[in-house]
Amino acid sequence: MPMYEKKYDVIVVGGGHAGCEAALAAARTGVSVLHLNLYLDNTALMPCNPSIGGPAKGHLVREGSALGGEQAEAADASAMLVRWLNTSKGPAVRALRAQCDLEEYARHYTMKIETQKNLEVRQETVTDLWIEEGRVRGVRTKYGYDYESKVVVLATGTYLGGKVHIGPKSFSSGPLGQTPAVDLTESLRASGLEIRRMRTDTTPRLHADTLDLSSLTSQGSADEPLTFSLWGEGTVHEGYFCHLTRSNRRTHDIIRDNLHRSPLSMGWMEGNGPRYCPSIEDKVIKFPEKESHLIFLEPVSRSNKEVYVQNFSTSLPFDVQLAMVRSLPGCEHAHVTRPGYAIEYDYVVPTQLTPWLETKAVSGLFCAGQINGTSGYEEAAAQGLLAGINASLKARGEEPLVLGRSESYIGVLVDDLVTKGTNEPYRMLTSRCEHRLLLRHDNADRRLAPIGRGLGLLDDDRWNRLRTGWKRIDDELERLAQIKIHPSDALNRELAALDSAPLSEAACAVELLRRPGVPYSLVEKFSPSPDAPRGGEALALEVEVKYAGYIERQGRQVARMERMENVTLPGDMDYGRVPGLLAESRQKLETVRPRTLGQAGRISGVTPTDIHLLSVWLNALSRRKERGAATVE
Ligand SMILES: Cc1cc2nc3c(=O)[nH]c(=O)nc-3n(C[C@H](O)[C@H](O)[C@H](O)COP(=O)(O)OP(=O)(O)OC[C@H]3O[C@@H](n4cnc5c(N)ncnc54)[C@H](O)[C@@H]3O)c2cc1C
Repeated sequence: MPMYEKKYDVIVVGGGHAGCEAALAAARTGVSVLHLNLYLDNTALMPCNPSIGGPAKGHLVREGSALGGEQAEAADASAMLVRWLNTSKGPAVRALRAQCDLEEYARHYTMKIETQKNLEVRQETVTDLWIEEGRVRGVRTKYGYDYESKVVVLATGTYLGGKVHIGPKSFSSGPLGQTPAVDLTESLRASGLEIRRMRTDTTPRLHADTLDLSSLTSQGSADEPLTFSLWGEGTVHEGYFCHLTRSNRRTHDIIRDNLHRSPLSMGWMEGNGPRYCPSIEDKVIKFPEKESHLIFLEPVSRSNKEVYVQNFSTSLPFDVQLAMVRSLPGCEHAHVTRPGYAIEYDYVVPTQLTPWLETKAVSGLFCAGQINGTSGYEEAAAQGLLAGINASLKARGEEPLVLGRSESYIGVLVDDLVTKGTNEPYRMLTSRCEHRLLLRHDNADRRLAPIGRGLGLLDDDRWNRLRTGWKRIDDELERLAQIKIHPSDALNRELAALDSAPLSEAACAVELLRRPGVPYSLVEKFSPSPDAPRGGEALALEVEVKYAGYIERQGRQVARMERMENVTLPGDMDYGRVPGLLAESRQKLETVRPRTLGQAGRISGVTPTDIHLLSVWLNALSRRKERGAATVE
């Protein structure tokens, strides 16, 4: 094969959400990047519902923004309607969700990729990895070139060995009729990686003009400008709505009558499907007592007429899908523009990766996104960003970036994948995160922007704007702790309206703000600030005050756990020599090779006793080392 004329620092394979983030992050840190995608027109394609955010997923997007990622900007630039979710459930799980225009979202990424310095993009299908002596040297492609690089990031999503199922029909395909990638899996297996199958499914799309939405409840956008990006101004979105409908007994009867025609019942699909986003037939089987499921009809673009049927994914035969759709209120005369389908694909067992997303088997080979067994644009983009950063660090010979569980949702996501693995599409959930009050949407900037800045991903203007905002919040917190608010009829009237007791004597402003239901705007009204925080800053301030006790408690828990996180385990540790370890635990420790005692404790099947034994062994090892002995006998 001819060798391409130029050698790159980083090659990124795949133009999806993970690949775009990885390529942009690496190029922005100054290394040379070649971005290869089998079809350039599918850059940042959203093959499922074009919605970004929601609980936990929205946190990932915000964290990406703080680190210098692009997804938040893409979502803001393409949003058709944006809303807060979980506003009544407390600040830890409050989350932003946007219904995006899939064409505008893709256009945003395409322009960023094609105009980024240090980044060259090309349509190529990668067929082989070029590996020498356990180290990646580059990739080989279908069009006939060998490309050389120091590091390769694989972000191939659902395309590897992609196979689509619609009832009894199945054929080799990527999502939405895209070309699949068929050759690369063998090369991955040959490099020593374990590859398995997984599956996910999507819903039929409908033509908007054939729906009767007049009797359905609609949801519009928030009436305030909301953005994922830390720097976005935002606009109030108008003119686009989601509509709520429900499945009913008829829908469920149609499904039950045709279950024997589903590819799953026929035993034609190999991989596990998504537990947290099951198909409608899965729901009907698993919850036979439920007579109805909530379904959202959502627009997918300003420039087409298609409607996505959220919560209605299916791989039943096309004729059955048509009947199912037409049983839904508002969809009696629906024209289906595309059928729903299930897709199976190859993924890399993620316990074979380090916490910086490099494979342990091949130095310099990174994996990010759905190839690691996750599902979702946000999960993919978050991993892509981390992999791109680490690919750049590796190419420059620097130490990798590892994000901790107590510092970010991205850290939780990656730690779960590389420590516990997954055999079904992994989706980020707030319940996966043990320090939810510390990892809020409103403080993602404070947690992660210093890291983004240190990596060169935040320019002076962005960094200074953040610092000014933080100072404004800190100054105001200090002021509120010092000043007193005096009782007045006007204040007590407003407190009564909030079901809060009247003020009988002067009270510290911070105490007043601590009361449930009393917003910062009220406190500030009766004690005006020279430079009051607004919008997201005011929200962050309010949360810091109202939840101070809980936040401190979680902070103490993290400090306790950090003692275990700070105990590192040698990469070449011989677990066979640790006395008392159960065979099963030893085998799991050898597979995952945890970096710290904390990570070892999170491997499923590794017990607190095992951790105690490891800790005793490490202490003995270090005492021996201090005494100058090379090994512990
Ligand atoms: C049917 C279906 C249903 C889904 N349902 C949901 C859902 O309910 N909820 C949810 O959150 N998410 C869902 N998703 C998931 C979401 O679409 C993916 O998680 C997300 O797109 C993954 O991003 P990625 O960047 O990892 O991969 P992808 O977006 O799949 O991108 C992979 C990229 O790699 C390129 N590529 C692949 N192989 C090669 C090669 N050999 N050489 C060069 N380029 C290559 C492709 O061209 C593509 O650009 C669904 C996806 C599908 C397909």
